[in-house]
Amino acid sequence: MTGVNPLPEPRHTQVNLPQEPGFLGARYVVDTLRRAGHESWIVGGAVRDMVMGLSPEEFDIATSATPEAVMKLFRRTVPVGVRFGVVRVLERNQEYEVATFRADGGYSDGRRPDAVRFTNLEEDVSRRDFTMNGLALDPGTGDVTDLVGGLADIASGTIRAIGDAALRFGEDHLRPLRALRFAAQTGFEVEEATLVAVRAGAGEIGSVSVERIRDELEKILNSRRPGRGLRLARDTGVLREVLPELAGTDEATAADDILDALVGSSVDTLWSALFRPLGPTGAAAAMDRLHHSRRMAQAVEGILESTVAIRTLPQEDEAAEKRTLRSPWAKAGLAVEEARLRVTGDDRACIVYASGKLSEWTPSDLFPDRLVTGEDALEAGILGGPAVGDALTAVEDEQLRGNIRSREQALAFLANLRQVENDAVSDD
Ligand code: ATP
Ligand code: MG
Repeated sequence: MTGVNPLPEPRHTQVNLPQEPGFLGARYVVDTLRRAGHESWIVGGAVRDMVMGLSPEEFDIATSATPEAVMKLFRRTVPVGVRFGVVRVLERNQEYEVATFRADGGYSDGRRPDAVRFTNLEEDVSRRDFTMNGLALDPGTGDVTDLVGGLADIASGTIRAIGDAALRFGEDHLRPLRALRFAAQTGFEVEEATLVAVRAGAGEIGSVSVERIRDELEKILNSRRPGRGLRLARDTGVLREVLPELAGTDEATAADDILDALVGSSVDTLWSALFRPLGPTGAAAAMDRLHHSRRMAQAVEGILESTVAIRTLPQEDEAAEKRTLRSPWAKAGLAVEEARLRVTGDDRACIVYASGKLSEWTPSDLFPDRLVTGEDALEAGILGGPAVGDALTAVEDEQLRGNIRSREQALAFLANLRQVENDAVSDD
């Protein structure tokens, strides 16, 4: 069988209407379209969230108006994808994607439709991915129209593809990963036929752009049950397609629990926990492959360097301890290492030690004032380049150990350093 499965009887429910600016702006956009004689609804994730009692982050609008008509009705618009019927409307300092009701043509590349045909609400919700994402809200009344069975699926906690799951996943190869993302976010069960299609579609996900995959992965990491998302991804074969670098690591199951222990942490902390088995360098390479920003990749590398250093912290000398703990990534590194030890049940002495030091040392303990400059080192007779840098580091180490507290002491230290160097040269 091809095409869309028979749709269930339409159903309705009511939701409470929020008073926040995002919703009020969306209602204004819908009202404006309706006053001009077009059909218009809030659709997609926002309606799902409101039915579930959550506050949406963004409001998408679907309408019978053509993109041209939408652009005429609003003063500030950006034609983001007119071919697909999408216009961005700026209203009351908010942005709304206003999309003309559409049915997708064929998907020959498994990524985006070859063509779209402008149509009605029923066909528009039918081309969406999961039933819970196929609801339409009248923002004037709070009435939710359900043409795809989404309300019942939300009530029973089910993630179900709209129509024939295998067919729908064949159109857009990202959908299997989206199913798991929603499972991680909602805690819902993936319905049987949909789960079968996730397994069957896993091998195709690689054809999707790395940015789309990364964004779904990040939503899993940021969800309330990242471990569940990863476990499902592993069990269905999705994980080895989207994160092949983790395939060979045997600490994978621990990573799931570590992520669950880090729920609510910053996103760079979460990526670090995911890629921890790869070590700092391997993790940075994985971040690069996913086209993360340089800044994010460096953060992950720094966080994982901190987790490694924290393990041996009690054995280090005070200068090395302070250098580790003053890194901008130390707190995140500590969080990752603590979560790991909590999960494995190993001794957490190094965490207690590092946290103690972190609360004991003040910023000026960690970043003592600079007492000497490169010029001082040159004047003391230390030859240029790397030797100067090394000498200044050595002075700072002594400051961190509490052995140097004044400029005089620092200058004397430099003079002595020169003496030692000269002795070494004359020994040769
Ligand atoms: P989020 O809360 O993360 O924004 P969302 O459900 O709003 O989740 P979006 O990616 O913002 O997801 O997409 C908005 C809506 O567009 C979805 O609710 C769904 O109806 C539809 N949609 C998005 N991506 C797809 C896709 N790959 N295939 C089919 N429909 C999709
Ligand atoms: Mg959304």
